[in-house]
Amino acid sequence: MNKLTVKPLSYDYSALEPVISKKIMELHHDKHYVGYVNNFNNLLDAGKISSFNYNGAIMHEIFWGNMRAHQENNMPPEGMFPDFDKFKEEFTVAAVSVEGSGWAVLWKTEAGLAIGQLEKHNLLGLNGAKPILVLDMWEHAYYLDYLNDRKSYVEKWFSVVDWDNVAKRTKE
Ligand code: MN
Repeated sequence: MNKLTVKPLSYDYSALEPVISKKIMELHHDKHYVGYVNNFNNLLDAGKISSFNYNGAIMHEIFWGNMRAHQENNMPPEGMFPDFDKFKEEFTVAAVSVEGSGWAVLWKTEAGLAIGQLEKHNLLGLNGAKPILVLDMWEHAYYLDYLNDRKSYVEKWFSVVDWDNVAKRTKE
């Protein structure tokens, strides 16, 4: 297995403001994400494979790519969801109800798109589905900006979703 490399953000740390602050993005990318990459590599040097750290790094890379600068009326491409309001509602329920540390995930499965949750992130890939849109619900992802108001975090986050990226991942 190869070592992981830290991937820089494709936008400024402040690009997602006012939805996600520069401070959160700096901590989240440079400390939490880089931590997963370094921990994975250090354990690999010691002859161990840490799926927790590996999947932590990969989930964050998907998450960074799933976002872009805030846009008013940010909508997915026509036809991506039969009922976008319903999708938002269901995804929000999945996100807000994550217990403790975890993710809300839109999976691409053989049967189509499916909303789910991922506890921590060490289970990635077990069900053979591909995460195409992920939302980090660990406290480090939102607490500085939203305290315990997870619902506002999720609602505002929809305005920074890069639907072109999501559509691309859906087709891959
Ligand atoms: Mn995180």
